[in-house]
Amino acid sequence: MSTSSTKWSPAPVPRPIATEPSDPFGTHRALEPLGALPQPAWRVDNDFSRLFPGEMLVAVETLNIDAASFRQMEEAASSLDGVKALVEKTVHDRGKQHNPVTGSGGMLLGRVLQLAPGRTDAGVVVGDRVATLTSLSLTPLVLGATKDVRAASAQIDVEGEAVLFATGPFAKMPDDLSDRLALAVFDVAGAAPQVARLVKPGASVVVLGAGGKSGILCAAEARRAAGASGKVIGVESYEPYADDLRALGFCDEVVVADARDPVAVRAAVLAANGGKEVDATFSCVNVEGTEMSAILVTRDRGLVYFFAMSTSFTRAALGAEGVGKDVDLFIGNGFAHRHAEHSLQMLRDFPALRALFERRYDARNESP
Ligand code: NAP
Repeated sequence: MSTSSTKWSPAPVPRPIATEPSDPFGTHRALEPLGALPQPAWRVDNDFSRLFPGEMLVAVETLNIDAASFRQMEEAASSLDGVKALVEKTVHDRGKQHNPVTGSGGMLLGRVLQLAPGRTDAGVVVGDRVATLTSLSLTPLVLGATKDVRAASAQIDVEGEAVLFATGPFAKMPDDLSDRLALAVFDVAGAAPQVARLVKPGASVVVLGAGGKSGILCAAEARRAAGASGKVIGVESYEPYADDLRALGFCDEVVVADARDPVAVRAAVLAANGGKEVDATFSCVNVEGTEMSAILVTRDRGLVYFFAMSTSFTRAALGAEGVGKDVDLFIGNGFAHRHAEHSLQMLRDFPALRALFERRYDARNESP
């Protein structure tokens, strides 16, 4: 049920194509400052009465808000209606769902309304249902109404429109998985492919926030990559999610601990790993202040991969230096080639994981 609306009403399609200069990165829509890339821009142009060459106009059905952003808004607003109000305000102020506190966005599900000339992608036509694989923090968006909020999956059903630039990755919705399940997985699709690249057979691995969406995918991929001779240790603060993770069987050990307590996490991981630090750590939490747990459990010349958007570059870099840890620190790139296909395929490869994600994130199973 719609709880709020503005005077917005969509213009008929096709929209005219603007003749002013534009580029595939979307700098033509940056308003503050003019000519910036759209992600760092404070405000972007969400006037879709005309399109620019290369743009894809999408009728938006659902926003999948980034976990760190959703949590911050929940804490700031104390109610789901308050979260909706914050989203509406952000989109009104900035022309995009770019959380001004966390700096993060999310992605969206919608239907293609128009393809402006100048796109090179094949295989997508007007009417296709697509998910954007580029962050909402750079996606021009206009909202007519916000409807149901599903807190467990951080998804908000909306009426609105968005534009995807020529360089913006997207995925057509799969036939064999529900839209909302696929959307939930696309949101964190960059995580597991990186685990597959970075974890070697026999490696010992820690996943922080291992009971959450990206954490479970990372734990599953770590198990597959490290193999039977490897060791996978999950750290999760929320007991029911820790139980879910244990039941999946990807981890040799699941530790219930607060990742903001590096001393306790280090003690627990060493106890679980025969007194040794691990080869690789993946941070998939949705809270701030966990950098030192990741660093302290990782061996000298090991690697720490910060997928979490709540990560502070300063805390990580200065923290590692402060404890004399020569570890490689990776920033979690949300994009990897074929990441959407890779992560969706994991749902097919691991039926128990799929069943859990359907229970948690599929709207048919989640009360609004
Ligand atoms: P999620 O499903 O909410 O998972 C986060 C998990 O961490 C939850 O199980 C959470 O438990 C747990 N957690 C919270 N506080 C903790 C603590 N103090 N110690 C240990 N565990 C704790 O989130 P997600 O969707 O997987 O996203 C995870 C992170 O990835 C977020 O920061 C998100 O912004 C980021 N992300 C990054 C990219 C990228 O491109 N790098 C893309 C998408 C998302 P609760 O349920 O109790 O909160």
